[in-house]
Amino acid sequence: MMVDAHRVIDIAGGGLAGLSLGIALRNRGVPVRLHEAMSYPKHRVCGEFISGVTNKTLSFLGIERLFDHTLLHREATWCNADGVLSSFRLPQAAYGISRYRLDEQLCSLLRSMGGTVMEGSRIGTEHRAREGTVWAVGRKPTNQAQWLGLKMHVRGIELRTSLEMHLGDWGYVGLAQVEDEWVNVCGLFRIRPDVRERPQDLLIEYLRRCGLVELAGRLTRAHHREGSYAAVAGFSLGRQQLQSGTCSIGDAESIIPPFTGHGMSMALQSAELAVEPLVAYAQGMTDWETCTQHMRASQLRHFRRRLGVAQSFHFALFDPMWRRPVEILAQNDLLPLRLLFSLTR
Ligand SMILES: Cc1cc2nc3c(=O)[nH]c(=O)nc-3n(C[C@H](O)[C@H](O)[C@H](O)COP(=O)(O)OP(=O)(O)OC[C@H]3O[C@@H](n4cnc5c(N)ncnc54)[C@H](O)[C@@H]3O)c2cc1C
Repeated sequence: MMVDAHRVIDIAGGGLAGLSLGIALRNRGVPVRLHEAMSYPKHRVCGEFISGVTNKTLSFLGIERLFDHTLLHREATWCNADGVLSSFRLPQAAYGISRYRLDEQLCSLLRSMGGTVMEGSRIGTEHRAREGTVWAVGRKPTNQAQWLGLKMHVRGIELRTSLEMHLGDWGYVGLAQVEDEWVNVCGLFRIRPDVRERPQDLLIEYLRRCGLVELAGRLTRAHHREGSYAAVAGFSLGRQQLQSGTCSIGDAESIIPPFTGHGMSMALQSAELAVEPLVAYAQGMTDWETCTQHMRASQLRHFRRRLGVAQSFHFALFDPMWRRPVEILAQNDLLPLRLLFSLTR
């Protein structure tokens, strides 16, 4: 539906949430100005498998065609330091595509639709609650830096299934096939202040420290993609603390634990939930405060349960004491995967 919109929407942050929102708004005739602190293409810390997004959401946002030829994951294998725990069919196929490629494609699409994208444009936090600005800046740094996310792309490594998940002591890592035969390796670890390796050695050293020695060996022998090393630290999981009046989406609003492979889907879904109130605001049918309240309430309603369930399970996967029962259940095919899948989506 095209509208006669006269108010411009500024979007701070050009990740999945910001870019897909920009495209959906342009589809409905709303003027969009997106500010991205970095430039495209860029490697990001992300497992790069997209699980739990529907075609309905992709079509609503107007980005379904970008996924036409995307690789699909249908099976996954869980492993620990001793070997394979379980291989299983995913309740719903997941997409495998690098952020390097996806974000650039979304940016080109937004530009081709008349959206303004300003790269290298960082919006100061003092503008966070400004009328007409959507805050889509991703993870918010905190001083309680407990988690470290690391990633790189490799080739020449054989996977058991196109998705592998490895559980170690205070860390887990996913291996996911993406385009052009690259395998994305991305893990979340509890920070170990005594580990001080070069960026290209950091992930492998963290794997060793959490007991995943065999996997570390496989990665050492693989071919590493130049420039694909990325790290992120100092963020908290769950709902983010927001200044009142801030209109935020994606990770800036809430962060689901990465093992779910669902953060990108939530970023897309939060963009979907934001479209209607923002179109009404852009048309002058509603004020900014009402628009912001509407967006917050709908995200809370949609995401509360999955965030709670995923966080509880995340701690069970991380802590060696709690992980053991999970491993035993997985080994005996007793883990209620379908239930877990539906409760975290
Ligand atoms: C270790 C790890 C593994 C993960 N694995 C997966 C996975 O397999 N599957 C999955 O679905 N999700 C995964 N996620 C989560 C997923 O990456 C995020 O949920 C998703 O990227 C959120 O998108 P976003 O647009 O909200 O934020 P981002 O993608 O982080 O984008 C935010 C953008 O805002 C820009 N920015 C920041 N500050 C400013 C500013 N002040 N002004 C302008 N621009 C700014 C940044 O440069 C960035 O481009 C993982 C996360 C981690 C940490």
